[in-house]
Amino acid sequence: MSWIVDFRDGSREMRDLLGGKGAGIAEMTRVLGADRVPAGFTITTEASVAYLRDGVPPDGLEEQVDEALGRLERAAGKRLGAPDDPLLVSVRSGARVSMPGMLDTVLNLGLGDEAVAGLARQTSDPRFAWDSYRRLLQMFGSVVRGLPAGEFEGGLDRARAEAGASVDTDLDADRLRELCDRFKLIIADAGDPFPQDPRAQLREAIVAVFESWNGARARSYRRLERIPDDWGTAVNLQRMAFGNRGETSGSGVAFSRNETTGAPEPSGDFLPNSQGEDVVAGIRNTEGLDGLRERLPEVHAELLAVLETLERHYGDMQDVEFTVEDGKLFLLQTRAAKRPAQASVRFACDAVDEGLLGRPEALATIDAEALEALLHPTFNPEDEPTELARGVPASPGAAQGAIVFTAEKAVRQADAGEDVILVRRFTEADDVAGFHAARGVLTAEGGKSSHAALIARGMGRPCVAGASALEIDADEEVVRVGETELHAGDTIAIDGSTGLVTVDEVELIVPGISGEFERVLEWADEIRRLGVRANADNGEDAERARVFGAEGIGLCRTEHMFFGSDREELVREMFIAGERRRRAEARSADDDEVERAETAFREALDHLGELQRADFAEIFRAMAGLPVTVRLLDPPLHEFLPVSHFEDALEDAEEGEAADEARARLALARELEETNPMLGLRGARLAVMFGEVYEMQARAIVEAMLDVGGGGERATVEIMLPLIAYETELALVREMIVRAVEGALESRSETVPYEIGTMIELPRACLVADRIARYTDFFSFGTNDLTQTALGLSRDDAEGGFLSVYLERGLIDRSPFQSLDTPGVGALIEIAAARGRGARPALRLGICGEHGGDPESIGFFEEVGLDYVSCSPYRVPIARVAAAQAALAAAM
Ligand code: ADP
Ligand code: MG
Ligand code: MG
Repeated sequence: MSWIVDFRDGSREMRDLLGGKGAGIAEMTRVLGADRVPAGFTITTEASVAYLRDGVPPDGLEEQVDEALGRLERAAGKRLGAPDDPLLVSVRSGARVSMPGMLDTVLNLGLGDEAVAGLARQTSDPRFAWDSYRRLLQMFGSVVRGLPAGEFEGGLDRARAEAGASVDTDLDADRLRELCDRFKLIIADAGDPFPQDPRAQLREAIVAVFESWNGARARSYRRLERIPDDWGTAVNLQRMAFGNRGETSGSGVAFSRNETTGAPEPSGDFLPNSQGEDVVAGIRNTEGLDGLRERLPEVHAELLAVLETLERHYGDMQDVEFTVEDGKLFLLQTRAAKRPAQASVRFACDAVDEGLLGRPEALATIDAEALEALLHPTFNPEDEPTELARGVPASPGAAQGAIVFTAEKAVRQADAGEDVILVRRFTEADDVAGFHAARGVLTAEGGKSSHAALIARGMGRPCVAGASALEIDADEEVVRVGETELHAGDTIAIDGSTGLVTVDEVELIVPGISGEFERVLEWADEIRRLGVRANADNGEDAERARVFGAEGIGLCRTEHMFFGSDREELVREMFIAGERRRRAEARSADDDEVERAETAFREALDHLGELQRADFAEIFRAMAGLPVTVRLLDPPLHEFLPVSHFEDALEDAEEGEAADEARARLALARELEETNPMLGLRGARLAVMFGEVYEMQARAIVEAMLDVGGGGERATVEIMLPLIAYETELALVREMIVRAVEGALESRSETVPYEIGTMIELPRACLVADRIARYTDFFSFGTNDLTQTALGLSRDDAEGGFLSVYLERGLIDRSPFQSLDTPGVGALIEIAAARGRGARPALRLGICGEHGGDPESIGFFEEVGLDYVSCSPYRVPIARVAAAQAALAAAM
């Protein structure tokens, strides 16, 4: 088994084996030539995996390291740690994907008490030699031996103080020698002394790098970035380039283009007379690349040429580490530059214009997920608002408005045209209407996956969660933050991208899709196969979705139209009266009683029907010419009939008739209360019990279509039935809808184009998709509920609770509600798609769960051959790009 690959034998394709850093060094050695990249070799990730499995280095590794080191020594004409003229190396970690600063690296390895003297003589630069030794001891102690870094830092601070030096470059050789003695003592006091034998140093350092894979820092980083635990890290052994040899030396980092704007000018940081991490550690003030040009113009020119070569070679913006040793430039690392959305869009466009990349390649360099940042309002970057409090940046975008403490007030004041910010300790299902009405949401408790954060992201509302400095008294309608006291109606502003909360007047800048972003989206539209629709429940969202490029509405949830205090009252009336009628009929009560209930039921229905008609018309107008999928009511009953509401009503009722009625209603509400509302009387089940509700909705849809008028201006409406499990349910409800639609059209001369389809959100529906397909024009996968029902996992309970432990313990690498569980839920979708299409080849297949806006899940939907995805308006542009990337990936 070979555990080692020389830098000259590796390449960028060998990333899995060599790690990203090793593959990059090998590729640079090829592209830039061996004299630009210090020589060395990579111990493969396979060796690290073997070590992590067995707890000892694999057989043959030590011999192979000896051989490879021998080759390195012969080429250098020096031996590792030799007393007269030592070869020194770095031992660098490097996983498959970059984990900056998470794993360990040791520099100047090979130095010892004798070699440091040899190095001083050989270079005639004792300061440099002792500085290098000081650094090795410091890194060896903290990184390899795991001693507290603070002890070494403290030693360095004291040495500076004693010498009256402000920066460590002011420490002379003698001071550094003293410091080395101290550092050796720190190491020896903790157990074993610092090993003077360079081979012993090497053995220990290699094992330490292997072990750093399982360090706490690295593990939690992997959780966050969803990096598998079993990859391990490669170890790179590389000859040192010394940036700490005085003023003609130094180290730095550079980007082939501006890393924040993407503008085609290289940028970076340089620190003269420094080594390794100094430049990013902020110990001294760094200089930009201009500083390098002034000091070392030739090196600067070489660096720019190198950046251009690497960028051209990789076809992507690069981020490099470099070191200058006595006027000679060395490259130590290259990788694709992480960049904010605006920079990635700018780069893609420039790269196409410059002929560097074709459109598909340019599109592939964009992180679709990050594009969301381009769509939300921001504070004017010129302003620097004072911080009142800070919380978790839970949903991006900035918002400003008057403080409200309840969802109800949010709805009422927003209806009156006011901008409001909903301020709560935490939020619950009841608050959802308030999210909709508010410009933004601020909570004192909870984090990124709190209810507030999830709902806010889903609705594209800015949210700062867990601003724990806020003391909220919702009854008194006051927020206290230290000395400051704010009342309902006071202005507050939040930035959900940074977590900032302020009471300053701020200017909000609303970005549109324009310029480069627009161009990129146009390319995406040319390339993608999947359609992209939006989930929108009102005219405003529908219009926004259209602006963002939605090709229709894939999900209009009608229950959201039922929220808001007046409407909720009607809905409660409808359910209570409907249930009374049902019961009266069942026990053959006298006609009077049945009729009273019937009349109340009809009145509530008619009133709701009128309201819905207007809501629908608004949406149909906004989506003229495009399809709109309207999902009929899917209420979790407990949200509309909360027992607490009826208890309050009873308390408020005057004794006598009113109290009797309130008591009766409360009793009914208690009887209707369900143990598992999410698995209770929902969706099409409701229509089986109270068919009139769906009939009312179907009529409202048709009337709204007629109100809007005909021709090309009209949307096509797709009526969608939720939570179908049995094909028999579907047959029954479909029949009901058809009758209602035909009935509504009867007296009219016009007709409206409509289709009837189903949500697929239960495992049974997936398995009997062939039977279901007989009664339906389309399927739309409701992946939120399908995930809940396939996994038997209640989202509300899991996400706030044990799911985080599953993530921490590595049982899952991402919430199945964020990114589709492809082996499980995905398999159900595949089965349903195949069986459904088998029975009805023209069946249209869409997905309208939150996964419809998740780039990774979109990749899966492309593979399975769905027709479209539907997601929140703000994610439409992301989905367009992700769909194009998925199509490109599928074509490869
Ligand atoms: P990380 O992955 O944390 O960036 P690196 O292995 O890249 O760790 O090394 C840390 C720092 O040390 C970097 O600035 C790197 O450029 C520098 N470095 C590593 N090896 C050498 C070397 N052989 N010569 C000079 N500098 C080096
Ligand atoms: Mg690095
Ligand atoms: Mg559902």
